[in-house]
Amino acid sequence: MSLKVENLTKTFDGISAISEVSLTVPENAFCCVVGPSGCGKSTLLRLIAGLETPDQGSITLNGTPVVGPGLFVPPEQRQIGVVFQSYALWPHLTVEKNVAFPYEAQGVGAAEAKRRAAPHLQTVSLESYADRRPESLSGGQRQRVALARCLASDAQTILMDEPLANLDPHLRATMESELRTFHEQSNVTTLYITHDQREAMALADIMAVLDAGRILQVGTPEEVYEHPQSETVARFIGRGTVLSADVTARQATIGGRRVSLDGSGEGSRQIFVRPKNIIVSEEGWPAEISSVHYRGGLWEATALSSEVDGPIMLDLHQPVRSGDTLQLSFTGGWILPS
Ligand code: ADP
Ligand code: MG
Repeated sequence: MSLKVENLTKTFDGISAISEVSLTVPENAFCCVVGPSGCGKSTLLRLIAGLETPDQGSITLNGTPVVGPGLFVPPEQRQIGVVFQSYALWPHLTVEKNVAFPYEAQGVGAAEAKRRAAPHLQTVSLESYADRRPESLSGGQRQRVALARCLASDAQTILMDEPLANLDPHLRATMESELRTFHEQSNVTTLYITHDQREAMALADIMAVLDAGRILQVGTPEEVYEHPQSETVARFIGRGTVLSADVTARQATIGGRRVSLDGSGEGSRQIFVRPKNIIVSEEGWPAEISSVHYRGGLWEATALSSEVDGPIMLDLHQPVRSGDTLQLSFTGGWILPS
């Protein structure tokens, strides 16, 4: 196990930023911590990096305890690479010098540092940019220099705090693919922090959902998306409809029709329905479209119906407009754990 956090708590002026957080990231995994702004993501990363001291709890990196009762290993001895939103490159150094910097800082000679930096430049496909200055690179290229420098620091663990947040949406999508490739090539255990659940799902081997300083759920993106363990997680990750229904033998009657459900529980329960489980059908119940967003080949819509207590979130494959009435039915749902 490469990164293990146990019962970590950090308060600032009596206010909890991180409360009793436990998380295990297996060796070589890419773990995304996702949660809304202010939920404690950066604090968690800074605690692991050694930039903050916790009130309680322990941290183990590659089997070596670095934080615990009476123990605090300083950041430079944790074999960690950190990539922040701002790239923090040396503006007066070339790309190659930036990447070679961690070696030179260890006292390695310039020629040898350059030789060692070369494979890292290759990992991020910047060999032909070696002699450029950061100012002449795009945002995405600068972020790749920062990644290569992380590798040059012989990091056993890479921590990234919203590294794509400053890039434009088109570049972000490209960088997501590059980060995956980078991870597959470097194979370094990575903790990646983002407020963007879509980005987390695209990147993560495992994701941890953080809310108000607490971890609500840990799982693969599929597990978290398909089987959210609470209404908060359900509403934060992707779109969906929450409704109350009476459950018997994993079935509920919604709009006069029996719907088969996943999960467990009986009686009055919260049911969560993803857009893929809502269809337009003649046997359905009426719902009025209240808003529509065109997403290229797909219309993301919200509808209201007397059959369901809250807004219904659905995806349509033909154009609709606000005010249209459609006949909807549910083809499945997930019984939210209570
Ligand atoms: P996130 O990265 O998820 O947006 P942060 O970890 O930055 O959240 O912050 C979590 C909470 O801790 C916030 O309420 C923030 O104001 C508070 N906080 C973070 N760092 C400090 C600090 N150095 N001093 C006081 N409060 C802080
Ligand atoms: Mg932050």
